[in-house]
Formats: sequence, structure tokens, C-alpha cells
Amino acid sequence: MLKCKETMTGVKNVIPPEDMEAINRYSKTPLTPEEVFTFDLLLCDNEIDRDFERFSADAISGLCEMFLGRTGIFDHTWSAHGQKARIYKTQVIEDPSKITSYGEPYIYLKASAYMLRNAENEALIDDIRSGIKKEVSIGCSVKEITCNICGEPDGSPSCSHIRGAEYDGVICCRVLNEPTDAYEWSFVAVPAQRDAGVMKRFSGAADDDAIKRLEKEADLGRMYLGKLRDDTAKSAVLVLPELNEDILRSVLSKLDEKELMSLGETLKKRADKLYPPVCQLKYQREQARDKDENYYKI
Ligand SMILES: [Zn+2]
Repeated sequence: MLKCKETMTGVKNVIPPEDMEAINRYSKTPLTPEEVFTFDLLLCDNEIDRDFERFSADAISGLCEMFLGRTGIFDHTWSAHGQKARIYKTQVIEDPSKITSYGEPYIYLKASAYMLRNAENEALIDDIRSGIKKEVSIGCSVKEITCNICGEPDGSPSCSHIRGAEYDGVICCRVLNEPTDAYEWSFVAVPAQRDAGVMKRFSGAADDDAIKRLEKEADLGRMYLGKLRDDTAKSAVLVLPELNEDILRSVLSKLDEKELMSLGETLKKRADKLYPPVCQLKYQREQARDKDENYYKI
């Protein structure tokens, strides 16, 4: 299971000596504060994301270790060229002023990264400073995913809880536990990647062909899901014309493929019953009318 989160970054200006020491642990030749640019990243937190998934506090602690020394890439160019920043410090931070949507103290994984101040990186540094590049995706794998309602592993036959649904006032989500590895992190352009989620499908192997293939598959998957949502929305409007279409589409956007297919099928059956196919020839119309009383309701 791969997990990505999109988060915000903050920019730092002064580099304390202990930070320089940490940076120089990763540098081949000792660097001076003038030679580096540093900035802070929020890598992940324990809030429920738009896929109705969240990291456990233990998972965030685990990732804290794993992201040390990881390089960051920009705009999804997974080449050596794209790797221009490195995380040199990570901390789990509890924000006492914030509570998660499920009532626990809000914690997040903060990372500090550095990059070289050189001509090649100049434009990028400007972008980070001005806040243009401020979304970060992380890739990691976790060993265990559980249902927050019953605690069973995700996909277990004994768990029938649907993510996003409410059970006794609790929103169902999947909890990501036991991280096993952290991969690269990346800045993604805003707002093009806002709805991406592509990174979830990446493996840690920096194999360009595999990544291109996975990106293509992800594109196809999104197209397919979009069509499935559209078809389901059409059937729902046919069956329940009084439904508000905006609300309907918002609800559908939260369903996964399996849920959409099941709902779509039920709605289609209902729609077919309400609106049977109209026959082309006159005598067939007469027969159809005799057979199906719903014919008159059209
Ligand atoms: Zn469950």
C-alpha cells in the first residue's frame, strides 16, 4: 500500500548552526549557510484525508525516522535532475490549538529540507519563497490498514463498514499503521495536481518506464471512474428527478469503484423498470402497452 498526502510548506530564512551540522551530514563537501537554502515541509498529519484515510500517531512517528535523508523532487520528474532538495531534519509536532475531526490531538510530521543556492535552483527557490510551489506529496508504504470502526484489517470479510459513512456519529475511515518505507517526496504544481492522487500508485523504484506506465494507468483509471460516476448520476436523476444534482455528484465523488458499480446497477434496474425501452413499430407498441402498465407513466 502506498500513501501520499498533499500538504503545505513553510519557508525558513535563518539557518542555525545545528541545522548546518545536520545538513553537512548529507553533503559530500562541507557547506556554509550562504550556500544553502532551507525550508520547512509538512509531510503528513493525522487528519482524515479526502480518501477517508488517516495515519495513526505511531505511523507518523515511524515515518519521522524514515524520511530523514530522503530527496525531494519537483513536478514529478523522477530523474536525477529533478532531485534537488534533501530532508535533513524531521520532527513530530503536536499542535495544541487543533483537534482532529475525530477528536484527537492534531499531530503532524514536520521536515526541514535544504537545497543548494546555485543558478540552476534559483527559479525554484523563488517559487518556494513566493509560495507558488507549496503542495507536497509523499510516497510511503504501510504494512497494516485497519477500519476505524471495528479495527479489522481493510478488506476483511467481517468488516462491512464503508469509508465516509457515519456509524453512531463516527465517520468511517481507514487507519494506516506500521510504515515500512518512505520514498521520495515531491513538490507538485498548484493547482494542476490538486486532485492527482497519482503518487499513490508509485513504487519506490525509480524506474521511469514503470512510472510512466503507472501514470497512464492512473489516468485511465480516473477516466473510467469519471464515466462510472457520470453514468450513475444519470441513472439516479432518472429514478429520482427531484434529487439536487450538485449534492448527488458530491456524494458520488466519495464512492469508490465497487460502491459505484453496485449503486449504478441498482439504479439502472430501477430506471429500466420505470422507463422500459420504447418499441419502434406500432404493433409492438400496442403489445408493450398491454404487458407493462408502467408504459403509461412515461
Ligand atoms: Zn469495519
